[in-house]
Amino acid sequence: MKRVTIIGSTGSVGVNTLKVIDGLPDRFEVVGLAARGSVAELARQTARYRPLRVALADAAMADAFRSACHDAGTPEPDLVLGPEGLREIGGMPESDIVVSAAVGAAGLEPTYAALRAGKRVALANKEAMVIAGELLRATAGRHGGSILPVDSEHNAIDQCLRAGRHDEVRRLILTASGGPFLDRPARDLDTVSPAEALDHPTWKMGPRITIDSATLMNKGFEVIEARWLFDVPSSAIDIIVHPQSIVHSMVEFVDGSIVAQMGVTDMRLPIQYALTWPERQDSPLPGLDWTRIPRLEFRPPDREKFPALDLAYRALEMGGTAPAVLNAADEIAVGAFLNGEIAFTAIPRIVAAVMDAHQTTPTDSIQTVLDADLWGREMARQVATRYQVSAGPVPSTGER
Ligand code: MG
Repeated sequence: MKRVTIIGSTGSVGVNTLKVIDGLPDRFEVVGLAARGSVAELARQTARYRPLRVALADAAMADAFRSACHDAGTPEPDLVLGPEGLREIGGMPESDIVVSAAVGAAGLEPTYAALRAGKRVALANKEAMVIAGELLRATAGRHGGSILPVDSEHNAIDQCLRAGRHDEVRRLILTASGGPFLDRPARDLDTVSPAEALDHPTWKMGPRITIDSATLMNKGFEVIEARWLFDVPSSAIDIIVHPQSIVHSMVEFVDGSIVAQMGVTDMRLPIQYALTWPERQDSPLPGLDWTRIPRLEFRPPDREKFPALDLAYRALEMGGTAPAVLNAADEIAVGAFLNGEIAFTAIPRIVAAVMDAHQTTPTDSIQTVLDADLWGREMARQVATRYQVSAGPVPSTGER
């Protein structure tokens, strides 16, 4: 029996993790839950799974949670609060596996705490690996922890890598759906609206990641994640556009063989893999229905139309705190676009300008990463004011 803690238990990965656990009741037991959103949902989960410990955002949420448990007749678990509570539940000695599925930078500290405690982390919080991948990898190595990716592309690569040794890998090939603007002429992108950018063809996700999929910044982030998850240099990580999202990613080996992972697009598949690894277990998910499969297409990404890709490679070359700054600047720029303050094409321009201004330093601690994150946000806010749509025409060149 493996004991599981879920950080972000009321979000979509958290809920899907519980569904996977429901299907494998003699293999997994829930010992910890953390959420900062829906108290009612968290109280229902607590009644059903009876975790030892629950982490909540603050004292007000704890009061609401206590009374929900009282009303339902659920014995109250041990409660921990705020960022300190997240660190505590991430490293709690009673768990074997931590599913890290909080949204945003809040997921970094519990992930770090879990790896310091030598646990397996099923990682769905991509931000942690983007902003602090080098530090998390080193921490896992030092304390005997491991990171199993839940992100579909990286989960696919993890599976493909089982076909050979690390020194037999020639390159990793991440597939990208291409987002909603794959076939839109580049000149139209200055005027696309947030609603158009939010209309992703294959995956239903939150607003930030959906915009990041439209700019392809999300794929750039995935290159950074892959670099640290699999210890492969960025020069050996490629991107290929595959609009059908059926091949989830591939690995090319030194003899020219390419191994691909395919499957239905359902998060329960990578979640279950990360929980049961190195074994595979039965699942209610179907395979692919080959009589209904569309034509599978592959083509190289247009790096001029989507400059975010090269920005991510540049952040890896700069190293240290540069990926944290890339992520922070992008979050601010995406927010400004969603608010109608800047054009879609200003997103990578703002990020590029912030990168130009950044002096990178080694990421030797969580604090270094968080400081760089704050700096990147502040600088991006300043730069974004120069791109305000209401202030006149959007500048057509970058800041450099
Ligand atoms: Mg992905």
